[in-house]
Amino acid sequence: MDRRVFVLALAALPFCAHARPRNMKEVEALQQNWKSFLPSGASVPSPAEPLKLSDDEWRKRLPGQSYHVLRKEGTERAGTSPLNDEKRPGVYACAGCGLPVFTSEMKFDSGTGWPSFFTTIPGVFEMKKDFFLIYPRTEYHCIRCGGHHGHVFDDGPPPTNQRWCNNGVALKFIAKDGKTA
Ligand SMILES: [Zn+2]
Repeated sequence: MDRRVFVLALAALPFCAHARPRNMKEVEALQQNWKSFLPSGASVPSPAEPLKLSDDEWRKRLPGQSYHVLRKEGTERAGTSPLNDEKRPGVYACAGCGLPVFTSEMKFDSGTGWPSFFTTIPGVFEMKKDFFLIYPRTEYHCIRCGGHHGHVFDDGPPPTNQRWCNNGVALKFIAKDGKTA
């Protein structure tokens, strides 16, 4: 091994377990293998089974904060979600309907105080532009239950350059070892 290769190998070591994808091919691999982050035998809903409930039913079903964000397009206070510090392998599902939307490998620390992801499980969100703050932002909703999750920006890390800024109360974490949070 020449010296340069050896130094590169050493530099790569700390990141082996949780490497950020280097190109779109690796991002696609992450999108395709999301089921491997579920606990074995876990059963989760699919986007093809819509969940439609009345406003009253949602209010009864969801904790107040989750109801406010998912059904009323609210925003949680930055830095309040325990999911900001969640680093275990697993799947992030919609808190409204249980649809898996991200995996732990898609998460990055954006420093914004909201759980952030550079890509999503394919086909789980629909988009809508909003003009709530003067400049347009792209808001995204769960495709299964219509719940509001957050906004996507184009200042995320390469290669996707996407930052899916998600309210923690709109998510529930399913750890690969079977524990939920
Ligand atoms: Zn949902």
